[in-house]
Amino acid sequence: MSKKFDYLIVGAGLFGTIFAREAALKGKRSLIIDKRDHIAGNIYTKEVEGIQVHEYGAHIFHTSDKEVWDYVNRFAEFNRYTNSPVARYKDELYNLPFNMNTFHALWGVKTPAEAKAKIAEQTAQAREIVANPENPANVEEQALLLAGRDIYEKLVKGYTEKQWGKRATELPAFIIKRLPFRFTYDNNYFNDKYQGIPVGGYTKLVERILTDDIPEGMIEVRLSTDFFDNRDELTESAEKIVYTGPVDAFFDYEFGNLEFRSLRFETELLDEENYQGNAVVNYTEYEVPYTRIIEHKHFEYGTQEKTVVTREYPATWKMGDEPYYPVNDERNNSLYAKYKEKADAQQNVIFGGRLGRYKYYDMHQVVAEALKAAESALK
Ligand SMILES: Cc1cc2nc3c(=O)[nH]c(=O)nc-3n(C[C@H](O)[C@H](O)[C@H](O)COP(=O)(O)OP(=O)(O)OC[C@H]3O[C@@H](n4cnc5c(N)ncnc54)[C@H](O)[C@@H]3O)c2cc1C
Repeated sequence: MSKKFDYLIVGAGLFGTIFAREAALKGKRSLIIDKRDHIAGNIYTKEVEGIQVHEYGAHIFHTSDKEVWDYVNRFAEFNRYTNSPVARYKDELYNLPFNMNTFHALWGVKTPAEAKAKIAEQTAQAREIVANPENPANVEEQALLLAGRDIYEKLVKGYTEKQWGKRATELPAFIIKRLPFRFTYDNNYFNDKYQGIPVGGYTKLVERILTDDIPEGMIEVRLSTDFFDNRDELTESAEKIVYTGPVDAFFDYEFGNLEFRSLRFETELLDEENYQGNAVVNYTEYEVPYTRIIEHKHFEYGTQEKTVVTREYPATWKMGDEPYYPVNDERNNSLYAKYKEKADAQQNVIFGGRLGRYKYYDMHQVVAEALKAAESALK
């Protein structure tokens, strides 16, 4: 007997919805389920007082891939937002990424040659105090060697310690591979060719992925529906599964659970027009418990009378918490390799997205991966 759907898609995030769209355009019917009560996964935005609030953390679309950029631009107009975060250390303010504005504020230097000389002086001092400069023992030593004491202490140390929930001397050096410097007065955080925020929010963009030119009845969406509450029946309803939930859960944690870092968001509506003058302000000192404050209206040049701000607190993840960042250390990577082997052996299941592949993906990478997976499955 033929099944009701060609695909059961677990997860209404970017991966699942793009896959469903591409399948529908090839005449394949999908049922998308999500355990949350909304579509769009982690890029979900919700309107509050006319402001698009990024409910699961700030999301800035950036890519150098023209195909991906053209694809998302079919479903939304993107504004010209350019990410240029400010770092606050005690009462001092610095521009990010590390560039001539940062170096000027730190040391009063005005030319690239002066800035390079200052960094060289400080990293040379670090080489004298680190026991084995060729093989730094921890993040503290690594960052001192790469950037010197001022940048490390004011801009790297506290922030990194809060992010990982450990002191810098306890964190493995590999966490920081590079600390890129830019010797121009350019505060644009990303090096990509294209960047922006969809006008009207990400949720609207995902709605349009699911509906633009899609014939009625090709994509059914069921929210507040957990795959594991009704696994057998849902599996029976479709020929194939596209699974974008955590890969270890799919296999009932057979080899143990993969670890994540989590986040806690505290969002407030404020009766003032402009709280911090920038969309993203990072708090780099250890004593302030959050890592950053997002002021959502500045992503879209909002002129509303009120404003919405979100404080972002890194959190240790435990089973049942929202998994945000995979912890790609040795233990987890080798555990994932075992799950991947099982996943690859599944004939009728495609594992996708950041949870299905246990990998930190930016949005542009998820778009590219979903299009690739759809093309290969639907050819
Ligand atoms: C704090 C933060 C900030 C980020 N900022 C940026 C940024 O600035 N720029 C950028 O490009 N990228 C950013 N990203 C990455 C971006 O969020 C991801 O690339 C994207 O959301 C991944 O889409 P996805 O479809 O793979 O996963 P998700 O959006 O997580 O979708 C997976 C969906 O599966 C559902 N699901 C899971 N298990 C089940 C189940 N058992 N049953 C039913 N449904 C289930 C989940 O509820 C979820 O909705 C950020 C990520 C985080 C965490």
